Amino acid sequence: MAGLRPSPIAQALGMAARGGTVSLAAGAPAAEALPDDETRSLLDGVLSRPGALQYGETAGLPALREWIATDTARRTGRPVTARQVVVVHGSQQGFDLVCRAVLEPGDTVLVDRPSYSGVLQLLGLHRARVIDVPIAADPELTALDRALAREPVRMIYTVPTYANPTGDTLSRLQRAVLARLADRHGVLVVEDDPYRDLGFTPGAADLPPVAAGCDRVVTLGSFSKTLSPAARTGYVVVPEALATPLHRLKEAADLGNSTLSQLLVHSMVSDPARLAHRLERLRRIYRERRDILDDALRTHLGDELTYQRPGGGFFVWARLADGRDAGALLSDAVAEGVAYVPGAAFYARDPDPATLRLSYSAPSRDQLAKGCSRLARALCRSRTA
Ligand code: PMP
Repeated sequence: MAGLRPSPIAQALGMAARGGTVSLAAGAPAAEALPDDETRSLLDGVLSRPGALQYGETAGLPALREWIATDTARRTGRPVTARQVVVVHGSQQGFDLVCRAVLEPGDTVLVDRPSYSGVLQLLGLHRARVIDVPIAADPELTALDRALAREPVRMIYTVPTYANPTGDTLSRLQRAVLARLADRHGVLVVEDDPYRDLGFTPGAADLPPVAAGCDRVVTLGSFSKTLSPAARTGYVVVPEALATPLHRLKEAADLGNSTLSQLLVHSMVSDPARLAHRLERLRRIYRERRDILDDALRTHLGDELTYQRPGGGFFVWARLADGRDAGALLSDAVAEGVAYVPGAAFYARDPDPATLRLSYSAPSRDQLAKGCSRLARALCRSRTA
């Protein structure tokens, strides 16, 4: 347990739990984005399928694994078999199993600076030596190249599209360079891409995954943002050599995902027209929320925060213009009725204390505007205190 830090997001969510507090902390889907009507009608059909309430294959429902293999092959342009696919309880479990398969304590893992906090937490549990280097902010990946030349590296972890927390997307060139560096140095890339279908910028949807450029890539996929996090269904696609270890690890961990959840997810994704319609609707929902937060930030906090408008995903990554500590500000913010995640949670070391993550995915339109005016009041309050 020595390396396992508490989750700073869970702590911020705990602070936001008081009634009436606007939470800009949770990276959860919007209530209106959850497919409740669709689920109700599909569940009836799913329940009457043979084996719906029975144990299933450990690596996942064969039909769903086939669908995932075909979808991954289409995106990467490389052949993928269902044997390379393991269905897991969200990409968080996928990353844990991959770490168990390939990491020894003390192994070096390179991550973007900043990076998703849930992954930093898991890397701590696995006693990895985590080195953060700018990836998205480095157009030619010079820092990554230098880090790879300095010492043996076991793994590179990346969120290539609309990243958590920054909203950044790797360019076509960055993806190609990352694949080339991984090949040259014999390093495994873990490509975690839960937001790739939730973009508002033309072009980003057509960017090839890193896995298109090299076969040393583990793909983590998730249905949490596009269908429902309560389905707890994600997947890992591994190079052939890792397939048997991953199957065995999944078996040892929990014997396999819920058959019922997988049947539901499969029935939701397997009709291409239904899926395309659903993703289009989600993009509209989140684009609107992004715009509302962007407007409200400019109205209430124009001089106080700097940020880049994200082109997709769930998050605005901001910095307090006067360099103030966003962690110290949080209690004033909560007292005013708004919560966010201080940016320090997303750094493996030497955090920039002035950064913060604001999530626009879950709050209602009203809450987004209210949250920003409360944040402005909290800044005022802390300045006069
Ligand atoms: N990776 C990233 C980048 C995420 O943002 C999240 C969810 N916040 C996860 C993994 C975990 O998602 P899940 O386990 O629900 O698939």
